[in-house]
Amino acid sequence: MNPEVKPDFLISPEGLRIDGRRPDEMRPIELKVGVLKQADGSASIRQGKTYIIAGVYGPRELHPRHLTLNDRAYLRVVYRMATFSVPDRKRPAPSRREREISMVIANSLKPALFLEEFPKAVVDVFIQVIQADGGTRCAAINAASLALADAGIPMRGLIPSVAVGKADGKLLVDLGDEEDKYGQGDVPMAIIPQTEEITLLQQDGSFTKEELVEAMRMGINSCKYLHELQKEALKRTYVKKPGEEGDDDYEDDLETDLGEAELMEGE
Ligand code: UDP
Repeated sequence: MNPEVKPDFLISPEGLRIDGRRPDEMRPIELKVGVLKQADGSASIRQGKTYIIAGVYGPRELHPRHLTLNDRAYLRVVYRMATFSVPDRKRPAPSRREREISMVIANSLKPALFLEEFPKAVVDVFIQVIQADGGTRCAAINAASLALADAGIPMRGLIPSVAVGKADGKLLVDLGDEEDKYGQGDVPMAIIPQTEEITLLQQDGSFTKEELVEAMRMGINSCKYLHELQKEALKRTYVKKPGEEGDDDYEDDLETDLGEAELMEGE
């Protein structure tokens, strides 16, 4: 579908969305950890057609020094969209929107991090949107949180994030680009799943109080689902399957078994 042409409807008579999803259904999500060789931590996310890579460097010495915080590390987030990430060429100079989203992402991640363990240092989080198809700030938070975990930054927990929007008067989870552009608004949110503390809550468009409460309920459910995917992505990278190279327990067991077998043979 050409995103530049307004669709006739966003919700079909059967109650399905333009890509066939149910209102509470997320787009297909693929999370990968450790995708960049040079970074201390990294992750990528594909959420529908949105594709983002996050790289974390640090904790390391902070330049320029006047940004130094004496009691904690400075979390420096840079969110950028590639020039080719949207149908119109995006101007390469950092836009106001990119600066604002960088700040919003930093504020969403900070409550989960023990930055006080690294006074005066910086933790750099570079986020590159390779392909934008709606929901980039939330997808960026999902990937950045995993990249921070991959870098070994101490944290209370991973931060999942999703936007719940409204189109044709119906609340919809995880808006695609047309729903974002032609819908009636959206509410991006992020949470610490263990405590349900909200670390991001924005609102674009108008929602009644009841709609907002329901949007938050739907968003928290989706964040919990995303949190499971985040944990699985980490496990795929760090928890080796029995017998796989790097499974130290298995290799120790194997050595013991072999040692015992040799002993028995010698008896
Ligand atoms: N977008 C675009 N050009 C831009 C900025 C955004 O085409 O320069 C599109 C992009 O697909 C993005 C969507 O508009 O995902 C919605 O942007 P918004 O600012 O609402 O942030 P997002 O929903 O991505 O968090």
